[in-house]
Amino acid sequence: MNLPVVTPLPSREPLLDTFGRVHNNLRISVTDRCNLRCTYCMPEEVVFMDKHQLLTFEEITRFVEMVAPLGIDKIRLTGGEPLLRRNLPRLVEMICKVPGIKDVGLTTNGIMLANLAQPLYEAGLRRINVSLDTLDPGRFRQLTRRDGLEKVLDGILAARRAGFDPVKINAVSIRGITESEVIPLARFAREHKLEMRFIEYMPIGADQWERDKVYFAHEILDQIEQGIGPLSPAKDYDPKAPAMEFEYADGGGRVGMIASISRPFCMSCNRVRLTADGKLRNCLFALDEVDVKPMLRDNSPAEVIQSLVRKNVWTKWEGHEINSARFVKPQRTMHTIGG
Ligand code: SAM
Repeated sequence: MNLPVVTPLPSREPLLDTFGRVHNNLRISVTDRCNLRCTYCMPEEVVFMDKHQLLTFEEITRFVEMVAPLGIDKIRLTGGEPLLRRNLPRLVEMICKVPGIKDVGLTTNGIMLANLAQPLYEAGLRRINVSLDTLDPGRFRQLTRRDGLEKVLDGILAARRAGFDPVKINAVSIRGITESEVIPLARFAREHKLEMRFIEYMPIGADQWERDKVYFAHEILDQIEQGIGPLSPAKDYDPKAPAMEFEYADGGGRVGMIASISRPFCMSCNRVRLTADGKLRNCLFALDEVDVKPMLRDNSPAEVIQSLVRKNVWTKWEGHEINSARFVKPQRTMHTIGG
């Protein structure tokens, strides 16, 4: 009789999955609330989580303390809109102090950044990504269903003044919308020494995604080369990294492409995610999650939580399957997972 081969779960190594991917990167959502309503991300009407459902700063930090010995050394705070979480700089400070954590980043829509950039920098944050899809106020209102472009621009400039270098600007790339935004955004980034990154539109929002609506990375690259000037792969170009990085031949900085659809980077994925209500997800598109909140709330021993994390990572699938008929869209939309 042939017995099935069961690959044993490693108990000492770094956070590995069965494809040999090592996980060192944790994205933590600190709230599902947002002060914008980007059409590709979330619905207009939302029932947000109750405050008591959210992990406290102490619970988040305790989780980070438990996963750092497993090899997690890179953290990114996100949401929802993370700056809506009161006293966020305090959380940054708490996480930065955890032994083994080398890098703490933040992804924000920038609306509240003008006042928070300096306190966040002082708390130890060094990496910041601001999401901005357009420089046109009407188009901003159409995409986000709110006003606020000026506040975002103020926030970006405040982040530069506070010392963040680089400040990365993330724009979602949607056919019919992005074409007219690429050159103005790329010029704006060059002018202010920001790093512009375009992210291919993914099926994770509340709206109806279709492949035809993705404005692909290679189309954006062509547009920039024709409208601004030649680009070449950056010196430290890493074909396995999520962002393909390019440099302007004239020394005008960098531009990155996150081509999740046309060039999925699942085989080099090193990420796990913790939602604001304490669910662990081993993929943005995961259909299953593990609830670690009860264990954090009843002070379960570190080994119990560490073993759950190991199991969750070990069972990670090969990739998101967006380009196949097998793809199943997760129930949660982006704002409740954490982008
Ligand atoms: N509120 C913060 C912000 O706007 O950066 C953090 C959360 S937001 C969900 C994180 C990132 O996900 C943003 O850059 C946003 O543009 C991106 N995003 C949301 N929905 C997306 C989609 N359907 N496809 C690609 N990127 C998406």
